[in-house]
Amino acid sequence: MVRLGLVLMLAPAAAAAGRVASAAGLGATVFPASVQQGAMVIGKVPAGSRVTYAGRALRVTPYGSVVFGVARDASGPAVVNVVRPDGNQEHVNVAIVARDWPTEHVRGVPPRTVSPPAAVAARIRREQEAVSAARAASDDGTGFAEHFIWPVKGRISGRFGRHRVYNGTPGAAHSGMDIAAPQGTRVLAPASGRVVFAEPDLYLSGGTILIDHGYGIGSNFLHLSQLDVAVGKRVRQGDVIGRVGATGRATGPHLHWGMTWFDTRIDPLLVLERLR
Ligand SMILES: [Zn+2]
Repeated sequence: MVRLGLVLMLAPAAAAAGRVASAAGLGATVFPASVQQGAMVIGKVPAGSRVTYAGRALRVTPYGSVVFGVARDASGPAVVNVVRPDGNQEHVNVAIVARDWPTEHVRGVPPRTVSPPAAVAARIRREQEAVSAARAASDDGTGFAEHFIWPVKGRISGRFGRHRVYNGTPGAAHSGMDIAAPQGTRVLAPASGRVVFAEPDLYLSGGTILIDHGYGIGSNFLHLSQLDVAVGKRVRQGDVIGRVGATGRATGPHLHWGMTWFDTRIDPLLVLERLR
């Protein structure tokens, strides 16, 4: 596929969004005027600016881009503070559009994964801590700014953020998006990045891979039947990373694809649709 440079790729997004901009010799500050709950937000600031959002300093790419995620239950506006290289400050308000979160019933899940036996509680906690630690990765790759592709093609069988009821027992909100696909289907890296976690058999998520797309944005791929990459591997968009399976808490073969900004979960579907 045609790869555009980072700056060229970002320009249409900003233009299409209707935006907050300031004109000055150092370049404009550009953020979307509004985003949905669960969105990945990319903004432009003058290179060399210092930027904070939600109490966190955002690293600025050499091109003057910053990225952050909006939580599923966030209410707006998101306030971004920008201190420009000339010392002037800007406060950018990004409105957050609320979404509906219907309930999804999932039946036929292995009972041991809905109410795990006490004996495995420690194992689950340990595995979740390892995943959380990997999620803190945030290197200088800019895969997050690429035009994400679907890791597998298929019907969406579960949407991000919906209330989940497993075998009649309420669970947490769905942390990603499920794509139905046959067992063994190749799973592609939706954008470039570095593999920061790869384990074949976690209790709840089965075969699990995490990719760091840079600047705090990451993807996780669950229930895999096979892993084709190991920790430390740099992948490019479209590289095969593993195969679809039904390992862990799953009713049948599908890919669960989750995305995060550090520990904030965001909606992969919004990321896929960002430039369309
Ligand atoms: Zn899922």
